Amino acid sequence: MFEGGNTIVHKDDETGSVNRSVNLGGDSAFANAFEGVKAALKADIGDTAFRSWVAPLCARAFDAGTLEISVPTRFIRDWVRTHYAERIARLCAAQIAGCARVEYIVAAGAQKPAAADAARAYEPVITANENAAAAEAAENLSSALDPRFTFENFVVGASNELAFAAAKKLASGENVTFNPLFLQGGVGLGKTHLMQAIAHDALARTPEKRVVYMSAEKFMYQFVRALRSRDTMAFKEYVRGVDILMIDDIQFICGKESTAQEFFHTFNALIDQGKQIVLSADKAPGDLDGLDDRLRSRLGMGLVAGIQGTSYELRLEILRAKCALMKREMPEAVLAFLAGKITSNVREMEGALNRLIAHAELVGRAITVEGAEELLQDLLRAAGRRVTIEDIQRRVADHYNLRMTDILSPRRARPVARPRQVAMYLAKALTEHSLPEIGRKFGGRDHTTIIHGVRKIEELLQADRQLAADIETLKQRIAG
Ligand code: ADP
Ligand code: MG
Repeated sequence: MFEGGNTIVHKDDETGSVNRSVNLGGDSAFANAFEGVKAALKADIGDTAFRSWVAPLCARAFDAGTLEISVPTRFIRDWVRTHYAERIARLCAAQIAGCARVEYIVAAGAQKPAAADAARAYEPVITANENAAAAEAAENLSSALDPRFTFENFVVGASNELAFAAAKKLASGENVTFNPLFLQGGVGLGKTHLMQAIAHDALARTPEKRVVYMSAEKFMYQFVRALRSRDTMAFKEYVRGVDILMIDDIQFICGKESTAQEFFHTFNALIDQGKQIVLSADKAPGDLDGLDDRLRSRLGMGLVAGIQGTSYELRLEILRAKCALMKREMPEAVLAFLAGKITSNVREMEGALNRLIAHAELVGRAITVEGAEELLQDLLRAAGRRVTIEDIQRRVADHYNLRMTDILSPRRARPVARPRQVAMYLAKALTEHSLPEIGRKFGGRDHTTIIHGVRKIEELLQADRQLAADIETLKQRIAG
């Protein structure tokens, strides 16, 4: 669409594939339009966040509906992806004709934010502390907490009611018996939403409380920076001076030696002082790789609240709630279509909804199911092959009250071996992986072992009704 300028073939920084055309022309229409998107976003997220995260983004190519945006560092890319990607996609769809997708490419030469701005943005989010930085901290807080992530906007169903109840109780300031609260759930199922809801609620009730919400990446970044400037004491004091410390996605900390150690010490100190901690991860404490054993057992002493895959009904409710929140209408049949098709990840489902809304606004008429199918082709294809062997193993382990390590272990005792075979059977049935690939994912087993496991289950299924029911349940959970 925006052809012209110097088009060269270049190597994708992320995948190494050589197939993209890059438009180096300076004054392209899409680049200008993207500056408009940035301006709109600035109004939405405020100056500080804008300067740190969005200002460095440059539109560098637009090809076949894909807008390619360069980002100076991986860290900024990840941050933008988790925090702003949906808003950016929505704005791009609305402001750049034909824009269906946005991709972020880390490009070393891209513009970096001024050092001071970047450093400021990495400060932990801390609020209402008595010192002079309070105003700035409040600004930081508002840029880091998504105002939509409240308890009111969270739709409760069987799969998340425990996590929701625990989060609410904790935010209410009543004495809770669990510490830490560990929210465990797959990607896009509401962990971050619940954590931020705790922050919103706790701060609304008791503004003097010091509530810190950080991604594990940010925690790591902070800590490494403190190490470099030999300022670890100040950092520790800072973190230890909080009332509620929330660290999101701690699977990213695990395995990183010094940070994990530091995390452990901080964590223990806070618990000993009776400070409340909330953590999230995509795995249960027992399944986090490279986690200090002492930390693992301490984590296990709190409340581990799992968030399971959503049911169809819950997804439909969530879609209705999102429409209401955005004050947009979408035909019920289209919502039902989305809830039925995009099953594993609420974030993705929401992204699809946003795309449809943007489109409906552009063309000025309601979307039909056929229209949605057409507009979401890429997403639907991706959602269809989302099931991974790991997902299956985790679901099976959960179902039978085992640990991931049991599923992968060489142990042959029946209480472990049978569920393992169930997992093999499901891996064969629900993924496209070959038997040798499946074997590798099951602790390096031979493909003949996998065949044996699959046949065994097929055979048992004929007569064993409990097993058939288990497998049916598991299939539904795995599919979302
Ligand atoms: P996670 O941190 O587990 O990857 P998020 O908390 O970022 O997931 O959720 C992804 C998106 O899905 C967010 O926009 C969030 O608001 C939405 N979402 C997830 N679960 C629910 C729910 N039960 N009700 C409303 N929105 C939800
Ligand atoms: Mg999250």
